[in-house]
Amino acid sequence: MTAAVKIRLQDAEKRYASQQGEDVVALAPVNLEIKSGEFVCLVGPSGCGKTTLINLMAGFEKASAGTVTIDGRPVTGTDPDHIMIFQEYGLYPWRSVLGNVLFALEAKGLKGKEARAKAAEYVELVGLTKFIDSFPHQLSGGMRQRVAIARALAVEPSVLFLDEPFGALDAFTRMYLQDELLRLWQEKRPTVVFVTHDLDEAVYLGGRVVLMAPGPGRVQRVIDIPLPWPRERIGGSLGRYRRELFEEFHLVHQQASSESGGYDI
Ligand code: ADP
Ligand code: MG
Repeated sequence: MTAAVKIRLQDAEKRYASQQGEDVVALAPVNLEIKSGEFVCLVGPSGCGKTTLINLMAGFEKASAGTVTIDGRPVTGTDPDHIMIFQEYGLYPWRSVLGNVLFALEAKGLKGKEARAKAAEYVELVGLTKFIDSFPHQLSGGMRQRVAIARALAVEPSVLFLDEPFGALDAFTRMYLQDELLRLWQEKRPTVVFVTHDLDEAVYLGGRVVLMAPGPGRVQRVIDIPLPWPRERIGGSLGRYRRELFEEFHLVHQQASSESGGYDI
């Protein structure tokens, strides 16, 4: 059975007016279909339009031209069924771990015992039961991001958007959370769109990797990685796809370096 298309972009582009009043193309027209339950990574250097693209899908930004649909309906704004996780956890500092997860459920109308039980279940799912009454400032960055993941998944979204969610974490914590996220994704099977600037992270996680390029931000190439999860980080069959992605990225890098203003750094 082939899964239904969940997210569809048709010639979706984004322009901004610069301070001089000229049009700046943040994202050249993108055509992309993401199937229900897919795990897609958007990867590329800084300024290539990753955040712009994910924001169009998540409804934080509106396309200047073209269309973006989810479940066949145009995206006109944010949706409680489509949850975004940012690099900066976005937890409420005055609420405990449980309180943070509860907040999301309450916002969805769940109340009382039922809400508490569900919140506790998701805290357990990310392995934080011992810290259920702790406050964000008492947790490490990795633990905070686990709370953010629990909070996002507790509402059982059909789409999970993540914009460089592990970018601020050390390499060990990042690897641990990558595996956690894959495990949760396999269990709950939301459609996942994951932004990263790390080619290895993209190859390790994605069923498909969308390589983006700057100047103007655009999709350079989409690479299928038809390997099951969990994958081997080193060696194994991932090497072939890793090489393919790095070679393509090398081309992007050469282009960007030879064009003035290619990189946004
Ligand atoms: P990435 O997330 O890949 O680093 P972004 O999507 O943030 O890239 O940015 C893509 C391009 O769009 C960049 O050149 C950036 O400067 C430009 N851009 C993003 N947001 C705005 C904005 N609000 N106004 C003007 N230009 C923007
Ligand atoms: Mg970004």
